[in-house]
Amino acid sequence: MNACIITIGDELLQGFTVDTNSTWISQQLQKVGIDVTTKVTVADGMDEIISTVKYKLDANHNFIFITGGLGPTHDDVTKTALNKLFNSEEVFDEKWYDILTERFAHRGLKIPDSNKSQATILKCSDSIENSLGTALGMRILQNQTQIFILPGVPQEMKSMMTETVIPEYLPNRINPQIITLQTIGITESQLFEDIQDIVEQNSDNYKFAFYPHHTGVNIRLKAINEESDLYKIKEVLGERLGNLIYGQDDESLSEIVGEMLANDGLTIATAESCTGGLLGKLLTDIPGSSEYFLGGVIAYSNDLKQNLVGVSFKTLETYGAVSKEVAIEMANGIRKKTSADIGIGTTGISGPTGGTEEKPVGLVHIAVSMNDITIVKEYHFLKDREMHREMTAYTALNLLRKQLIFNSNPT
Ligand code: ATP
Ligand code: MG
Repeated sequence: MNACIITIGDELLQGFTVDTNSTWISQQLQKVGIDVTTKVTVADGMDEIISTVKYKLDANHNFIFITGGLGPTHDDVTKTALNKLFNSEEVFDEKWYDILTERFAHRGLKIPDSNKSQATILKCSDSIENSLGTALGMRILQNQTQIFILPGVPQEMKSMMTETVIPEYLPNRINPQIITLQTIGITESQLFEDIQDIVEQNSDNYKFAFYPHHTGVNIRLKAINEESDLYKIKEVLGERLGNLIYGQDDESLSEIVGEMLANDGLTIATAESCTGGLLGKLLTDIPGSSEYFLGGVIAYSNDLKQNLVGVSFKTLETYGAVSKEVAIEMANGIRKKTSADIGIGTTGISGPTGGTEEKPVGLVHIAVSMNDITIVKEYHFLKDREMHREMTAYTALNLLRKQLIFNSNPT
């Protein structure tokens, strides 16, 4: 089955708004085995909308998803355009208007006249309720093609897809059609070499794709026939790759690490230099992180490294701020100051300036202090400031993850 997505809006074409609607819809469709074969973005214009939808209808897609231009203002012409194309008529949905009136009244407001247009749908369509906004969505069946017309506001579109379109109109798949395995700590080429035989032996039943980014590589597994069993191939890859895989689909590394800390009943504190608080940010991205994250210090200057974290003057003078010795003292120091079970220290040179021949831009030392050991690792990451800091923070989380795995299973 295949689909086409049409996003409508001048702001999308002018580059003021990034079209996130189509990527999100694509992801949902992939999950139920519908391939998106075309995406088009169209201006807020009657002629452009009519000709694009007409052209896409001729291509005989199973589904067409249209978002945007359902609002009450003069530039929202999607409904008028489709009305003309399908030679339909606009009908007023009294029930929906009452719901809207009540919603406005609930906020102490009188419903504006312009909102009347939000309660009309095309006679040739079924309505799709909008629990977050005012515009009704529509579903039109045209020959073999199901057309869904949804608002442009991402939260509204998503809730209507999740509450109505997906459960009521899309194929119901119990088995996933796609699984993404997330890896960290291995390059794309090494990863491919390590599993090349598995990829080749199973290519009749699965599509394998590799998506590298600077903090890891995702392996996307797609079912392609009745023989495909994504859970089985996932297990085969899991056996081969072990701890290199940290999560699946939308799981984040912070989430995984947070879960491990909570399960083990351990607390953590951070002393960050080059990451400037990013590690603490990642840890606190997770609701409930106060259960395990005590807090952290951004010890950027040597003074703060000494006074707040307890790094010794001698170590700083002898080895320099960016050194494994300082990383170790940062991890140990913050752990001691906060009485956390685990301390992490990061110190590096994110650039673009500040590098020397001996300590070039990109260099970083990360230390994790836990139980009676403090491990420290040296890395040479990309010489782009933002990427360097992200790679450092994610690698620190991954080092922590590996220590936690080792801690719960030391053999
Ligand atoms: P409403 O009924 O709320 O007026 P609408 O259907 O008229 O919704 P638009 O006016 O086109 O929607 O857009 C509403 C908001 O959603 C705008 O801020 C717009 O930038 C944003 N938006 C529209 N289309 C997209 C898209 N494809 N991806 C992300 N954001 C979008
Ligand atoms: Mg618009």
